[in-house]
Amino acid sequence: MGWQDITERKGAEKHLKELVDNLARSNRELEQFAYVASHDLQEPLRTVSSFSQLLARRYGGQLGQDADEFIAFIVGGAARMQTLINDLLAFSRVGTRGKALAPVDANDLLKLVIANLEAAIADNHAEVTSDPLPQVMADKTQLAQVLQNLIGNAIKFRQAGRPPRIHIAAARNKHEWEFSVRDNGIGIDPQYFDRIFVIFQRLHGLDKYPGTGIGLAICKKIVERHGGRMRVESTPDQGSTFFFTLPAADYSP
Ligand code: ADP
Repeated sequence: MGWQDITERKGAEKHLKELVDNLARSNRELEQFAYVASHDLQEPLRTVSSFSQLLARRYGGQLGQDADEFIAFIVGGAARMQTLINDLLAFSRVGTRGKALAPVDANDLLKLVIANLEAAIADNHAEVTSDPLPQVMADKTQLAQVLQNLIGNAIKFRQAGRPPRIHIAAARNKHEWEFSVRDNGIGIDPQYFDRIFVIFQRLHGLDKYPGTGIGLAICKKIVERHGGRMRVESTPDQGSTFFFTLPAADYSP
């Protein structure tokens, strides 16, 4: 390689490093922004919420039907905003509150998650099965959050008249494990495969399924923090399989 080439390559490397540094910085700033905004919004919102509730309690039925209705809208709006802010905070905490990765036995973690979801599983006659799962490098709390969100969704988006059947498996690919969470629920139209991972994006009205659309965004952020990727495959009316990769515990870079 000539001097010319080396100089060019050094230049390109330097440029790339600057780009990566800039990206990391703007990412940190965004995270900080989401945290501060959601945290500081809570205080004035609490004021709106508590005084509109007070108004409803003290003057309900005295100001006319219109006024009662308007107050109810304010109370409802404030409650919904509180939920969104809490979700935004939870989302920004994936980066700021994450713990160091350590070897985790995914079988133990799955048992814990199934125990947490016991009521939903029993109420919906759901069946959760799994293959033997591996040890992975993970933040235990966050990995539990991912599994709980995915299994919870598999139950929530079940097909009417068909009890949820959910299966968790893992396949090794070089230094990674790819987990899959498969369900027999309502499925997702392929045109929405990207959109569902975006914060606050949902495909259904609140009246049909409760939720704010944060679950999958948090899952994806957690998986990416672990150096993994997340995706979905699905056939509408038949079911969905969510995949995510995590570094194997026996791999050291
Ligand atoms: P939420 O459950 O609060 O709506 P999520 O981020 O967990 O938010 O999911 C986003 C959207 O993706 C859901 O509203 C739903 O339309 C779709 N979705 C997620 N999981 C499933 C699933 N297992 N089966 C079918 N649709 C799903």
